[in-house]
Amino acid sequence: MRRLPVYFLIDVSESMIGDPIRQVEDGMAAIIRELKTDPYALETVWVSIIAFAGQARTLVPLQDVISFYPPRFPIGSGTSLGRALQHLMAEMKRDVKPTTYEQKGDWKPIIFLFTDGVPTDDASAAITQWKKEWATKCNLVIISFGTDTDAQLLKQLSENILLFHNADAAAYKHFFKWVSASVKTSSVSVDNNGSGFELVKPDGESLSRIDLTKPVPPARYNDPNFVVVTAKCQNTKQPYLIKYRKVVTDAGIPGLDMSTRAYRLVGAYPVAESYFEMADKGYVSKVHSDELIGSPTCPCCGNQIGFAQCSCNNLLCIGDSAENTCPWCGTTGHYGAAEGGFDVNKTLG
Ligand SMILES: [Zn+2]
Ligand SMILES: [Zn+2]
Repeated sequence: MRRLPVYFLIDVSESMIGDPIRQVEDGMAAIIRELKTDPYALETVWVSIIAFAGQARTLVPLQDVISFYPPRFPIGSGTSLGRALQHLMAEMKRDVKPTTYEQKGDWKPIIFLFTDGVPTDDASAAITQWKKEWATKCNLVIISFGTDTDAQLLKQLSENILLFHNADAAAYKHFFKWVSASVKTSSVSVDNNGSGFELVKPDGESLSRIDLTKPVPPARYNDPNFVVVTAKCQNTKQPYLIKYRKVVTDAGIPGLDMSTRAYRLVGAYPVAESYFEMADKGYVSKVHSDELIGSPTCPCCGNQIGFAQCSCNNLLCIGDSAENTCPWCGTTGHYGAAEGGFDVNKTLG
């Protein structure tokens, strides 16, 4: 039986923390549920899930639908498209059976790449390898979750680039329905000796094609829609992320671009230690605390102040007692609100 391998390559960078990553988890579970009820998919579809941030990691190795169990997703720092592609190519090289004189191999793999924002690494070597070794051997569909997609870069990988206007839970549901419908029609196409790749037409509302004939803005190496900072709980030592969403306030003077940029608190979310393993080390940018509106409580221990900075530059939660110990560097001392604000290390998003 020839298999139809379907790979999901999913961006788990920090801007996905909170609602988006939960929606993706639910969405993947829904896809698997759908496919389990479809006779064509059950017969041919094999699924793998790879998560990537600064690093890439296989969450579920390629396996048939019936034994598939949807995973939990980690969160990491950065969006290393280069590493993600390299990881995917290594997996496909190992797992996908090529067609030879002796055997009919697998159908062309279908890859759904979900990404949010722009890559934070130089992906050119991986893209070159992709074009040389894989571009004609699989079908890649890129779905962007952010409006600041680097389409110029992504179009070197695939002509199928779609923009997901992520709004609410209903839009996510709709989107994942589209993905499972596309996998289903592809598995039917395989059964009818078709190409094995049939994307269902996007509705144009929650999901639309990016017009690659139009000029696209240049790449930016930082996700500008969100600011995410890393902190640690001094009681549980657990890391957590504090997420802010960009708001632009208009000074209201006609003809003058006086808008100021600020970021409003979305929430604080505990993350596993694997956060540091998935991270892309060696890149730091700063955001000034004056640009950040709102301060969370600690999501790990409930301390009232979840946003305090140690002299080691790291963020921690602090409680009522005068003495606090930094979970990063071990310094014990007094922490208070700094005069005039301070610079905070910002993650890559
Ligand atoms: Zn805490
Ligand atoms: Zn410290």
